[in-house]
Amino acid sequence: MITWHENQDLTAANSFGLPVFAEHFVQVNQLTELVEALEQAEAKQWPVLILGGGSNLVLQPALPGAVIGIAAAGIHLLADDGDNVIVEAGAGENWHQFVRHLLQLGLHGLENLALIPGTVGAAPVQNIGAYGVEIADCLHSVIAYDRHAKSVVQLMAAECQLSYRDSLFKSQQPGRYIIWRVRFNLSTTFAPKLHYGALNQYLSQQGQDQPTPEQLVAAVCSVRASKLPDPATLGNAGSFFENPRVDASVYQALKQQFPDLVAYPEKNGQYKLAAGWLIDQAGWKGHRNGGVGVYDKQALVLVNLGGAEFVELMALAGDISASVKQRFGVSLQMEPRVYP
Ligand SMILES: Cc1cc2nc3c(=O)[nH]c(=O)nc-3n(C[C@H](O)[C@H](O)[C@H](O)COP(=O)(O)OP(=O)(O)OC[C@H]3O[C@@H](n4cnc5c(N)ncnc54)[C@H](O)[C@@H]3O)c2cc1C
Repeated sequence: MITWHENQDLTAANSFGLPVFAEHFVQVNQLTELVEALEQAEAKQWPVLILGGGSNLVLQPALPGAVIGIAAAGIHLLADDGDNVIVEAGAGENWHQFVRHLLQLGLHGLENLALIPGTVGAAPVQNIGAYGVEIADCLHSVIAYDRHAKSVVQLMAAECQLSYRDSLFKSQQPGRYIIWRVRFNLSTTFAPKLHYGALNQYLSQQGQDQPTPEQLVAAVCSVRASKLPDPATLGNAGSFFENPRVDASVYQALKQQFPDLVAYPEKNGQYKLAAGWLIDQAGWKGHRNGGVGVYDKQALVLVNLGGAEFVELMALAGDISASVKQRFGVSLQMEPRVYP
């Protein structure tokens, strides 16, 4: 039997720290509770927001209908052939704690994704990625509740349609699947991916060109901490914009005009432009306006300077996008989801 909380304050449940109240809120630990909550919401025709750690959301002050917090717990080994291991984790598990737990178990593949805020269940939603690794590299499958079929389904990695900061869950069928457990293909052999510039540089400086798994996780955490604000002290939602992808001809024209342009070639021939560089060049780094600002160490991150409001945050995001468009002719897309 679930209990709805009326007019629930979710200010502390979103990493930007926006002042937010949910009309009806419930946290679910069991799948039966999730189904019960969904049935009740449907009967009352409430819109539903699924909430993990709230680190990739920009929320309006009043959330209509239902907010369902996912608290599915547990980490299990499902298969182990000595080299390859399948591990399953509950959607409500904290992502970073899960990565640390795998380190203790001697299972490898997710080290570069240490310290990303949020839950295991949200990780496939935008195919979280950092320092040259994405969830797509290790995802086995997800166990999800399908709101259309009203049943529990297993979606194999290929069915999840993971791509850069995107998936079936985010853009193809938003709201249809509620991820309850996630399965990962991990390895007992440590084959670190160290090609990403800032990480590589840091490890070299530490004299750790062949790091242990613990050293790699520590390096990832140090590099992240030097570039990104900790939401516990400065509210933020991580990268506020996706890195725009452009055709090679657009990239070449821009590169000619702006020789310092930072961009990365993609497998499909396109180029991913560093949104942080574009925003920085447009003069926004360190900008402050009322309760919101642009982080002074990384222009891609917008921050809550204290008392940030939804409206001023969206206005700042709009001004940044417009100026980048004007200067470079490139459109920025927001990375966090705006709700409702
Ligand atoms: C400081 C900081 C650094 C970050 N760095 C990175 C980074 O390096 N790489 C990166 O990719 N992201 C990064 N992020 C973004 C964010 O941490 C990730 O997107 C994370 O996976 C969001 O998890 P969450 O549990 O907080 O999701 P939430 O913000 O609660 O939800 C995000 C979306 O997923 C949906 N959702 C949540 N749980 C489920 C579920 N169980 N089933 C279905 N849908 C669900 C929500 O409805 C919402 O649409 C960063 C954020 C911050 C604040």
